[in-house]
Amino acid sequence: MSRVLHITGARPNFPKAAPVLAALEGSVEQVLVHTGQHYDDRLSRVFFDELGLPEPDLNLGAGSGSHATQTAAVMVGLEQVFLERQPDLVVVYGDINSTLAAALVAAKLLIPVAHVEAGLRSFDPTMPEEVNRRVTDQLSDLLLVTSADAVGHLAREGIAAGRIHFTGNPMIDTLLKHLDRFDEAAARQRHGLSGDYLVATLHRPSNVDDPAAVAQLVSVLHKAAERMPVVIPLHPRGRAGLEAAGLLESSGVVVSDPLPYTAFLGLVRGAAAVLTDSGGVQEEASVLGVPCLTMRPNTERPVTITHGTNRLVGVEGVLAALDEVLDAPPLERPAPLEKRPPLWDGQAGPRIAGVVLDWLAAR
Ligand code: UDP
Repeated sequence: MSRVLHITGARPNFPKAAPVLAALEGSVEQVLVHTGQHYDDRLSRVFFDELGLPEPDLNLGAGSGSHATQTAAVMVGLEQVFLERQPDLVVVYGDINSTLAAALVAAKLLIPVAHVEAGLRSFDPTMPEEVNRRVTDQLSDLLLVTSADAVGHLAREGIAAGRIHFTGNPMIDTLLKHLDRFDEAAARQRHGLSGDYLVATLHRPSNVDDPAAVAQLVSVLHKAAERMPVVIPLHPRGRAGLEAAGLLESSGVVVSDPLPYTAFLGLVRGAAAVLTDSGGVQEEASVLGVPCLTMRPNTERPVTITHGTNRLVGVEGVLAALDEVLDAPPLERPAPLEKRPPLWDGQAGPRIAGVVLDWLAAR
């Protein structure tokens, strides 16, 4: 039996990896590695419990630090693991530092790499994730993409067509699988909400690191909260800065700790709109049929604009866009299949497994 090592490390990885592990179950020997990039239980443990992910076989405990410190710690840990376990294939997910670290270590040991969610590009060099995406894709043997635009980006970067596979979005497999558990009434009760409300998530460095940007963001959130309550499950990244800038000084702002997956998506499902700088949330809101206002100057997920509910508005454009969205007729929730991006149908995991198994058989 071939041995496949899956490398996960942070919150956005887990809903992507779960369907791939499930679809490969029984066909290959699987080893699940958690690098420990996210070690806070609220960003990690809860996902394993809820998504039915197997307990990680190994946790490297890499922890946080500067980009170099963290990437290096993961590389050192993974080199040992790869030498000991001798995998036939390493599967990496998304665009976090652990993704890049795993691809670098595997490439130098001549171990093939499959990248799930390859080819996304924001073309924004200030995003650390953009560096991780580009380099990981150059080092990968199998590029598994979630949207057609990603195929074009990879082709332009010189990746051979035979290595690129449009398999759809495994994060949406996870969303559709757990849809019945996204309980909007429970979310309202949990956060003390009776009428309409907004959800906001913020953690990108461009929004939460620079004090001037934080001040602008807090002012926009306060103004939005004059229309209806804004529930903000706050990522630990940036929390202190947002609070220091007075985030809690509006009675309409409801801050919580990061929520478990189903609680979070129950909250999003019932929201009038979502304000976010998250990558995954743009995708999830699109499929749930919830208007999404992305507080960034660019997105690596343009398919959520062309085939979803997303609008790129920046922080400065939130209030005007919010007026438009709240005045528009309500959207169908969840979005029907024909209004979703192609192959966001709940079958990406099996398609990815098919590509992986064919590739392993051909070796
Ligand atoms: N998420 C969650 N609880 C929260 C906020 C987000 O479970 O309080 C989930 C969300 O549904 C999505 C993932 O975390 O599946 C996205 O992660 P994040 O926004 O941290 O990363 P990004 O997608 O921006 O890389």
